[in-house]
Amino acid sequence: MRTSYDVVIIGGGIVGCAVLYTLTNFTNVKSVVLLEKNTNVGQENSNKKRNSKTLHEGFAETNYSFEKMVRMRLAASLIKNYIIKKFGKIPRIFSGEKSFCFSLPFLVLALDDEIDFLEKKYEQIRKVFPDVRLLQKQEIEKLEPNLVKERSKDQAILALFKQDGTVIDFGALAQELLQDSISTSNSHILFNQKVKSINEKGDQIEVITENSKFICKFLVTTASANSYYLAKSLGYLKEDYALLHVKGNYYEYPLVLRSKVYRPQIEKIPFVAVHADPNPFISNPMLEFGPTTEINLSKELEKDFDLDFLVEELLSNVKLMSVILNILNDRETSRFIFKNLLYKIPIIGKEIFAQEARKLLPSINARKLVYRRGGVRPQLVDLKAKKLILGEKIFEFGNMVFCITPSPGASAAMLNAFEICRKIHTSLDLKFYLDKYSRFFNISDDSLYKMVV
Ligand SMILES: Cc1cc2nc3c(=O)[nH]c(=O)nc-3n(C[C@H](O)[C@H](O)[C@H](O)COP(=O)(O)OP(=O)(O)OC[C@H]3O[C@@H](n4cnc5c(N)ncnc54)[C@H](O)[C@@H]3O)c2cc1C
Repeated sequence: MRTSYDVVIIGGGIVGCAVLYTLTNFTNVKSVVLLEKNTNVGQENSNKKRNSKTLHEGFAETNYSFEKMVRMRLAASLIKNYIIKKFGKIPRIFSGEKSFCFSLPFLVLALDDEIDFLEKKYEQIRKVFPDVRLLQKQEIEKLEPNLVKERSKDQAILALFKQDGTVIDFGALAQELLQDSISTSNSHILFNQKVKSINEKGDQIEVITENSKFICKFLVTTASANSYYLAKSLGYLKEDYALLHVKGNYYEYPLVLRSKVYRPQIEKIPFVAVHADPNPFISNPMLEFGPTTEINLSKELEKDFDLDFLVEELLSNVKLMSVILNILNDRETSRFIFKNLLYKIPIIGKEIFAQEARKLLPSINARKLVYRRGGVRPQLVDLKAKKLILGEKIFEFGNMVFCITPSPGASAAMLNAFEICRKIHTSLDLKFYLDKYSRFFNISDDSLYKMVV
């Protein structure tokens, strides 16, 4: 087996696959290997059972800055254009066509005193998304009668509306990208390769898995939370950042809505409020409510509690504890966290969750909600600024990058992959075929200039 490569990528989620795809198709990299601990790609947070499958384009996330909105529109357009280039179109949801990606109506529903905020935010959003409209109660009722049915007559409602939101199975997208990468001869993918440690050896990097050893000139770690722990094992990040594992679980419900319905987002909380998403990727399509926001007391995706982790990573980190107390000191944030804890109480927890979901769907019947485990967001805490970090973060140390990707990490994957590949191109003195890239993804000169500069 070959053990020496120009580039090693650790982790085959949507981000690792997007890096492999970009590198093999748009640069002249000589050799690259992707190491994945599972037997296939896209099995963890990128998997359709683990996340909300929303392509975040920037119009529905009311806590994004103007710059972040523009960035997410570009990031989402790369994904959409890849799919359109490959399959010709993105079919409409429930059209009977088979796909891993559909377009569907997307609403952000504001109630009573949230309406002012949404109207103001709309003035900013429409500059970037001219096709986004505001819908009044009657129009909402016409589109989705169940959003209005059984709602108190006194309650005012208004919705931000886009006709063509997008729902994606990001795990399936990871597999498509992988197929388009291995069709070139300079890339390999190895499964059952759990990386245990990394060593810096002069200008080379040694990557040790459970059963092999690899050497590379550039290392990309796209292993979700494990990117943090691998960087930390080399002495990086630990002084400035800590990591919280924030679980997001779901409740399935009969398909009484055919649009994605979000709620305006609380400014300082990097977690979306409970939303409703039609899931077309199962034989009996359902509506999903969620995700919840719960701190996981374990590093493992499938495990809720681990005493060693609790003591070593959380309780003994005095700086982190002080930031958590600081965060809990804010009334709005602590209320949000406390409410999410209540959902865990046996029997009545589901009713408490239903009360939250009724803001979207007033007629909801708690008994019909079926719990489903979701994924875990690796949420960085900035120990110096004493706050949670919004969105994904890419750290660069010499010839290594470490990618830590909570939501909207899947939607940003192609753009982050581009940026990572630009770093590799500079570091290894590769060619980056910008013309081919911009033609393939249909990027305007203006956007390409912003991406490169
Ligand atoms: C509840 C929830 C809802 C979300 N909703 C959305 C959404 O609607 N839209 C959106 O854009 N984003 C969403 N996200 C975020 C999104 O799921 C992630 O940002 C994205 O999937 C991250 O991709 P990734 O490739 O970095 O990580 P992953 O998909 O987790 O992939 C990491 C890979 O690394 C591998 N790996 C880990 N450790 C090792 C090791 N030591 N050795 C070898 N391999 C290793 C894993 O097996 C895995 O295959 C959501 C996340 C959660 C948890």
